[in-house]
Amino acid sequence: MSNLDRQATPAVCGGRGFVVAEPVRELLSPRRVQLGESTEVRRLLPNLGRRMVGAWAFVDHYGPDDIADEPGMQVPPHPHMGLQTVSWLHEGEVLHRDSTGSLRTVRPRELGLMTSGRAISHSEESPRPHARLLHGAQLWVALPGAHRHVEPHFQHHAGLPRVTAPGLTATVILGELDGALSPGTTYSPLVGADLALTRGAETNLPLDPDFEYAVLSMSGEAHVDGVPVLPGSMLYLGCGRTSLPLRAESDAGLMLLGGEPFEEEIVMWWNFVGRSHEEIERARADWTTGTRFGEVKGYDGARLPAPELPPVALKPRGRVR
Ligand code: MN
Repeated sequence: MSNLDRQATPAVCGGRGFVVAEPVRELLSPRRVQLGESTEVRRLLPNLGRRMVGAWAFVDHYGPDDIADEPGMQVPPHPHMGLQTVSWLHEGEVLHRDSTGSLRTVRPRELGLMTSGRAISHSEESPRPHARLLHGAQLWVALPGAHRHVEPHFQHHAGLPRVTAPGLTATVILGELDGALSPGTTYSPLVGADLALTRGAETNLPLDPDFEYAVLSMSGEAHVDGVPVLPGSMLYLGCGRTSLPLRAESDAGLMLLGGEPFEEEIVMWWNFVGRSHEEIERARADWTTGTRFGEVKGYDGARLPAPELPPVALKPRGRVR
């Protein structure tokens, strides 16, 4: 998915200065953002006062939306740089095309993982025909400096590893959870997991005390470390935890996001993650002139123009330790 916000503002993210070293319970409210004509998303990251969770730098939750009589998701070709995109669905399907020639339909609880590296462009659309409901999350992972110029590629994995406990089925999307490892390629220590809880479930999830974590609620009524987290909101949990208590009042769907605190400071604007304002400016110019980001073949429609860059240059601050 693209950041279709026409008032795209640059954000400086990352660095130890934002990380909470001990366990906290910080409830993050979503910002509602209109994506195209028919889709409204709830943006959890970046959030006021909370830009990243590990290398996770962007989290949108959308649906469930009834799109039976609508085109559904229609995101025209747009570029990415310096990040990975993770498409995660609970309902419906998304047809992905990109400039490396990928053409794949991603379905519920399958991993669509696109590594932009130095440059990629892609489109995402609800195929025709499509399921009645569309419900999912779109997430970005910032690539660390040593890997941010890797060759762009797309991975699609169905049948991801699962961890089960009474009342809980956890699907490992990225990284490792309780010994189960996702086949998706990662470039920094992190985890992403889908947590399906049944009504009445009470369980403890093993965590890595060196990671910072957050839990996004997708559906149902669940308590995370005693805090009720409603669908479309996210609880930031800080670091220093070895386990996480979960309780479900109804069947519930959560996403666990975590990772080693991201040490590098990044500049994020529109669909780009860079290290300087100049680098972002170059990427915007290259997309506008049709260089570097390749071509998405087969999409029926025009590509997405880049919004205007704000007049004030933004510099990442020095690393805080
Ligand atoms: Mn995108």
